[in-house]
Amino acid sequence: MMIHHEKDPAAAGAQFEYSYQAEITNVYPLTSAEKLYQVQIIDPDEREGFCFQPGQFVMLEAPGIGEAPFSISSSPIRHGDLELCIRAVGRMTHFLDRMGRGAIVGISGPFGTNFPVEKMEGEDILLIAGGLGIAPLRSPLLAVLENRSRYQRVDILYGARSPSELLFVYEYAVWRQFGVGLDIIVDQAEEGWPGPVGRLTELLQQRIAGGVAADFKQRTSAIVCGPPVVFRFVCDLLIQAGVPMEKIFVSLERRMHCGRGKCCRCNIGSTYTCLDGPVFDYWSVLNLKEAI
Ligand SMILES: Cc1cc2nc3c(=O)[nH]c(=O)nc-3n(C[C@H](O)[C@H](O)[C@H](O)COP(=O)(O)OP(=O)(O)OC[C@H]3O[C@@H](n4cnc5c(N)ncnc54)[C@H](O)[C@@H]3O)c2cc1C
Repeated sequence: MMIHHEKDPAAAGAQFEYSYQAEITNVYPLTSAEKLYQVQIIDPDEREGFCFQPGQFVMLEAPGIGEAPFSISSSPIRHGDLELCIRAVGRMTHFLDRMGRGAIVGISGPFGTNFPVEKMEGEDILLIAGGLGIAPLRSPLLAVLENRSRYQRVDILYGARSPSELLFVYEYAVWRQFGVGLDIIVDQAEEGWPGPVGRLTELLQQRIAGGVAADFKQRTSAIVCGPPVVFRFVCDLLIQAGVPMEKIFVSLERRMHCGRGKCCRCNIGSTYTCLDGPVFDYWSVLNLKEAI
């Protein structure tokens, strides 16, 4: 399912660009590199009117420094009370890292396509995340948990480099209380790690071996988020298990910069990752050369 938008940059800007003043209301360190920022649109009417779908992203502007795209990690029912899980990697994100509660930032968006969680009702949901991929995946997870009874089996398979890099650890018990199957694997163990060590694909192979083949074919939708290397191996396994390509959804961040179809860095032919994505079904991805 590829969603097409206006490609004229000026029109794209006019159509999609919204700017809001927002306040960082809380900052929670998650690991040594990532923090969860709670960001609230200041104007109450604008906050209530800010609606997004799981998988969409915002452009966050630090005044005088610049702006960058970030996936919204929170539940869509929270409107303009956003949670962003941000890894400090460069100029903008290190600046954010030093900003604390009460700082004022700019928000534009929401931008991009989304994970169609409403269309997945009645199905088994397989959420697969590698590393920081758990950040975009948390929004569809929370959307599913808001309406837990409308979905069948919900499983998360999550791989991280090491136990100390796992994100949202404090929420795992709550997710499990909602009947979510959560399996975690790390590349490298640390002292006291009780879980498995290996690749994310090993968890998926186990999940496939323990499942019913007909269920994968008939009633499973998968959401895959992570570094590009994860996509090919994970999606190939899902396809082998019988999950239809159009029911496998991935989020691509490929060279995206302006988020509004203006800078022409993320396009593959006439497809812009920022306007036509970041969420694509795997059938569309395979038809996009060099998408991954
Ligand atoms: C749709 C989308 C959603 C995103 N969601 C999140 C999120 O939820 N949390 C988060 O921490 N980050 C997310 N990112 C990545 C985030 O936008 C970049 O880390 C940010 O732009 C870095 O800005 P900077 O000024 O700190 O780093 P820069 O100084 O611009 O760059 C630092 C390093 O990061 C690399 N880099 C920068 N941007 C990207 C990119 N888009 N893809 C790959 N490498 C990049 C650069 O090549 C460089 O090596 C997302 C990106 C996209 C496109």
